[in-house]
Amino acid sequence: MSLLGASEIRELAAALNIKPSKSLGQNFVHDGNVCRKIVRTAGLTSSDIALEIGPGLGSLTLAMLEEAQSVIAVEIDARLAGQLPATAAKHSERAELLTVINQDALTLKSLPVAPTVLIANLPYNVSVPVFLHLLEIFPSLRSGVVMVQAEVADRLAAKPNSKEYGIPSVKAAWWADVTGAGSVSRSIFWPQPNVDSKLVAFVRRPTPGDEELRKKVFTIIDLAFAQRRKMLRSALSSLYGGSAAAESHLTAAGIDPTLRGEALDISAFCAIAKQG
Ligand code: SAM
Repeated sequence: MSLLGASEIRELAAALNIKPSKSLGQNFVHDGNVCRKIVRTAGLTSSDIALEIGPGLGSLTLAMLEEAQSVIAVEIDARLAGQLPATAAKHSERAELLTVINQDALTLKSLPVAPTVLIANLPYNVSVPVFLHLLEIFPSLRSGVVMVQAEVADRLAAKPNSKEYGIPSVKAAWWADVTGAGSVSRSIFWPQPNVDSKLVAFVRRPTPGDEELRKKVFTIIDLAFAQRRKMLRSALSSLYGGSAAAESHLTAAGIDPTLRGEALDISAFCAIAKQG
């Protein structure tokens, strides 16, 4: 199996007449060692069904094919999705293990097989919604590694009482334990992005409650962080019919109403939601 280097990436893009689209976050990795490192970090094994979002020209896909039982790649750009099977056939003896789906990942509802591991260099503009959507719709995803913009990585992995802690951190924590897994140099991309990238690893954990509770919790999270500097009793006043009512609701849930959302972990948000 040979992975894609800088010259292959440019040749493929030229052959397809692809001018990388900024709005689709098309920055292609041309360093096979980094791709193998990402796959190793994800702990992909021969019993895994690997899911990749945004395979692009196939850099990570080829590294995933080396290890996984099979790979499902979901790509929004029809030209890239159309080319990928041929690229896999040219570079890998395991190309028949690849299924390519030409679709927007945000509209995914099901896949032919339940994926177990997610590995993706996510399109920057939609990385958080795509990540949360996949965790929600594929409970079979037990772990994974995603590459995202550095600031987004810091937010996803942030813990309470830090300046990065916010909506993505708490919502991701509903589904999984999320940790930083290192930085990635800008020089491995074509074209080079003008932001830094980082890896984020996740391991699914049992959700703290059912779908009904999750919806309530996510509404509370959205309100608590809508105005970050507001105390919970006023941030949640619209939900409970005034700040006095919010204050008694929070007190009954065992949460200090003068705290701000940034001080609460996912279990504290659940305690508020379970109060009614
Ligand atoms: N995985 C490739 C790599 O590492 O070289 C490409 C990664 S590039 C950062 C993001 C890829 O996601 C692009 O191929 C882009 O077309 C695709 N993409 C963008 N938005 C998408 C969406 N909503 N659903 C699926 N793929 C998307």
